Amino acid sequence: MILAVTMNPSVDISYPLADFKLDDVNRVEHVRKTAGGKGLNVARVIRQMGEGVLATGVLGGTIGDYIIQELTKSNIENNFLKINQESRNCIAILHDGKQTEILESGPTVSAENGAAFLKKFQVLLPDVSLVTISGSLPKGLESGFYRKMVEIGREKRIPVIVDASGESLRQVLLHHVKPFAIKPNIAELSQLLGVEVEQSESSLKQLVAKELFDGIEWVVVSLGGDGAFVKHGSDFYRVTIPAIDVVNPVGSGDATVAGLAVALKQNQSVPDVLKTAMTTGMLNTMEAGTGYIDRSKFSRFFELVEVRKI
Ligand code: ADP
Repeated sequence: MILAVTMNPSVDISYPLADFKLDDVNRVEHVRKTAGGKGLNVARVIRQMGEGVLATGVLGGTIGDYIIQELTKSNIENNFLKINQESRNCIAILHDGKQTEILESGPTVSAENGAAFLKKFQVLLPDVSLVTISGSLPKGLESGFYRKMVEIGREKRIPVIVDASGESLRQVLLHHVKPFAIKPNIAELSQLLGVEVEQSESSLKQLVAKELFDGIEWVVVSLGGDGAFVKHGSDFYRVTIPAIDVVNPVGSGDATVAGLAVALKQNQSVPDVLKTAMTTGMLNTMEAGTGYIDRSKFSRFFELVEVRKI
């Protein structure tokens, strides 16, 4: 099965309001609460694709209990390190076609708990064939924490996909032990390289050919509605997708990671790996929920993805 890691999960609360009044009382009727965090979106989509998945990470308190309840309800196996602090709520107020977000930063994880999690990670690895690591690190853990997880994965010969940003991604890339795959979007690639990334093929090719990405089997740069630009080994691919009716694009990168993980686990061909990853991304944008896909639409959209070697 696939191990999906979320180090700072949340309960995501959405408050749809016809009219958002500042400095006044707003009453909400249709509250929606879901287990959130990028790795949990990944886990849900892997599950919906019919592959076995185990969700892990760090959580605590009654919010942590709620997350476990929700995962269990969705038939997602889970084994988290429980800590003595409360996990976070993330609130999205949906008003006037806009989304105002209030994101708690979450618990501060101690060095001891960090070490305890790494031990758990090691114990879980013999039962998994691939790992996905998604999202930000909680406060308290050093930015090299994902790098350590990649190293542990390598020791056990388990491929690790890292979908992170900022310093923790940079640390992963600068280390001599490389992740198996990464999936930056354009903004994350720009931040990583310190340049404003242009979407042209020639410029993307030049950027992903940089030494920083050497030794990573798959560099999948997702381009939203424009598909993806990919480096696999020493080959480059442009992946294009059809125009679709987007309902909610939030979490589509996570769905892409899930598709990538499933396809790699199933040893699909290179074009099929990319088509699967794009299709799960697209299907997520077509649903209101984050980290949800309608599996019955998979084949239809899979056939519409085009992979061109450059
Ligand atoms: P992230 O959510 O990490 O920013 P992207 O926005 O690049 O990632 O989206 C990931 C994938 O989801 C894309 O490669 C594509 O397959 C799909 N996707 C995202 N936005 C759209 C869109 N507007 N139309 C069609 N597909 C989309």
